[in-house]
Amino acid sequence: MSTARQKTVLEIQKYSHSTEDFQGQPGIEIYGELVFNETAQLKYLSKEVYKKLKATAAAGEPLDASIANEVAQGIKEWALSHGVTHYTHWFIPLTDTAAAKHDSFLEVLSTGLAIAEFSGKTLIKGEPDASSFPSGGTRSTFEARGYTAWDPTTPAFIDKQMNGGTLYIPTAFVSYTEEALDHKTPLLRSVEALSVQALRALKLFGNHKAKHVFTNMGPEQEYFLIDRRFYEQRPDLIATGRTLFGAAPYRGQELEDHYFGSIRERILAYMMDLDRELWRLGIPSKTRHNEVAPAQFEMAPIFERSSLAADHNMLVMELMRRVAIRHDLVCLLHEKPFAGINGNGKHNNWSMATDLNENLLEPGSTPHENAQFLFFLVATVAAVDKYAELMRIAVSGPGNDHRLGANEAPPAIISVFLGEQLDDIFLQLEKGATSRSKKGGIMELGVSVLPPLPKDATDRNRTSPFAFTGNKFEFRAVGSTSAIYFPNMVLNTIVADLVGEMTDQLEKAAKGGNFNKALASLLQKYVKAHKKVVFGGNGYSEEWHKEAAKRGLPNLKNTPEALHAMDNADYKKLFSRHKVLNSKEYGAREEIFWERYVKTLNIEAMAVTDIARNQILPAAVAYQCRLASAVKSTEDVVSANNSGIKSVLEEVVEHLNSLVAGIESLKKVHAAAAGASSLPKSAEAYRDQVNPAMLKVRASVDGLEGLVADDLWPLPKYREMLFQY
Ligand code: ADP
Ligand code: MG
Repeated sequence: MSTARQKTVLEIQKYSHSTEDFQGQPGIEIYGELVFNETAQLKYLSKEVYKKLKATAAAGEPLDASIANEVAQGIKEWALSHGVTHYTHWFIPLTDTAAAKHDSFLEVLSTGLAIAEFSGKTLIKGEPDASSFPSGGTRSTFEARGYTAWDPTTPAFIDKQMNGGTLYIPTAFVSYTEEALDHKTPLLRSVEALSVQALRALKLFGNHKAKHVFTNMGPEQEYFLIDRRFYEQRPDLIATGRTLFGAAPYRGQELEDHYFGSIRERILAYMMDLDRELWRLGIPSKTRHNEVAPAQFEMAPIFERSSLAADHNMLVMELMRRVAIRHDLVCLLHEKPFAGINGNGKHNNWSMATDLNENLLEPGSTPHENAQFLFFLVATVAAVDKYAELMRIAVSGPGNDHRLGANEAPPAIISVFLGEQLDDIFLQLEKGATSRSKKGGIMELGVSVLPPLPKDATDRNRTSPFAFTGNKFEFRAVGSTSAIYFPNMVLNTIVADLVGEMTDQLEKAAKGGNFNKALASLLQKYVKAHKKVVFGGNGYSEEWHKEAAKRGLPNLKNTPEALHAMDNADYKKLFSRHKVLNSKEYGAREEIFWERYVKTLNIEAMAVTDIARNQILPAAVAYQCRLASAVKSTEDVVSANNSGIKSVLEEVVEHLNSLVAGIESLKKVHAAAAGASSLPKSAEAYRDQVNPAMLKVRASVDGLEGLVADDLWPLPKYREMLFQY
């Protein structure tokens, strides 16, 4: 007797995969070959049009509409040379997964001949039916009109698959009434908002050369890989992305032997294929390694400008899943695919830089640079303190609830890690640091009032949700499935706000003459007001929770708590002040986040009920019968003491009773939660009633897994999925 699971285990041994000719076509040669990049642009566009397009993409200048036709012709010719037949406007609706509708280039002439056609108009604007995308109540179904608008800051690219290619035009997605229905538009607006404020500040520091300020981002992506055949036997993974059942394996991650361990051949083959696919798309995949949990891995790209990096991360997630299938694997990106072992995060490395590539978070080597650095550093820390709730909201979601605050990933309390030496500098700033020795040249620059800065002096802290790491911040609380537009939009906007606020004050104070004195007292004031968010200790510890409460830092423990905090007029004003989200757009996102939470837990509750009843219960009953007939038939033959098997049977019966009772109570609370009178009430019922009820069912099931004969158990086990691949 053997189950599909057990057959799978044997089949894994036979695994083999085909390989690419990686020597004939080295990585650097294929890099960017499917992107309408500079090389392609220079080949397919006139010099003049190329320059105009570049100005838009690189320097953030408004798009010159007159070039659209020629760009469209160029892109089409280039795409045709790759065998492309279709094009699509690609956008990121508020579902968090990218959307695309394909149209062919085909136009049929009156003569019956077909030609390939692609006009400037089609390039610039699309009109997908917007009614089936979430709008958070900003639209009714009959108000279907939506527009996709070409975003030239991410170059067009080709999705090449086995039987053909599709041209992808990255776009922003807005409604007929001009509300952003996507994640990208607000991110682009937030970069603009930050640029406006940061340029004002830079002028005060004597930097007149920079024309734009951008944010850079490098998202490290964690993921699991399991054998596809196991996946196909786990309806919970298929429906929810995580296992809703599964007893802890005898061996988990306690041996700490997986992190950076040698990568198994099958996994490395996957990673190599993935890298090549990413490189073709001009996605600068750089780092690959084993992560902490068994069967867990990480990929990190070289950082890029935020919106490009966010687009690329969407493609990374898509390709991770697609390439996995080719290797008979499935890529699990969920924040917590397996209970009891580490989940997946996405470390969002973030910094600000000018169009001249001057990193504003780089502690320079001269006092002048130091002063400017300290200004932006203090503004960022102040922003995180003032808008800690928004940072928490930005990373909320049903998946991340299993990580944040669950003693694994950063806690739900938002704090900033600066490192020992910057902590010390913060102390000096707080004192005003005016007593420092004044010496010739430095005094002339006047910045001797500011302390000297060490370069790259930070240690690391894995428990901090927002850590300074030398010349950037690492926002470590972001969920692995997150479309990172939203968290970065929040980050850019809150920093824009504080940079603007501090610049206002500095402008005024410096008018009287002494800029440096004005700066020192401004920094002093802001450090004093916001240093409470700075924390360098263990973020998991009980003491920190107490200490954070004492400091008055918010601790929004789960998604419903975070979403309640989102309903705040000040936050709405913040986003409309910087023209990132108007109040309607803000409200829409609030509504969509509530919906996402409720819908996700609804699916999970249904899956728990179904799998428990239709797969686990029958297996346990079969085993119960097997034991019962064993007891009976043994008693027919011998009169020996049968208490051993009987006690196992009793145990099985008990577990079965509690399983059935658990399913019944889950059904009740589930129905009540689903029928609650509002989204927040429903969400709270899911959190407070349904979630515990699901866990109770799980406890019975996991108990049975340890009792029921292995050959009867229908679900692939943790020890198989996590170790046999
Ligand atoms: P870690 O040791 O934190 O795992 P990785 O090398 O895996 O480091 O990832 C660090 C990430 O930070 C990379 O994606 C890298 O490109 C990115 N990064 C480096 N410098 C900057 C910067 N100035 N701004 C934004 N991201 C950056
Ligand atoms: Mg890393």
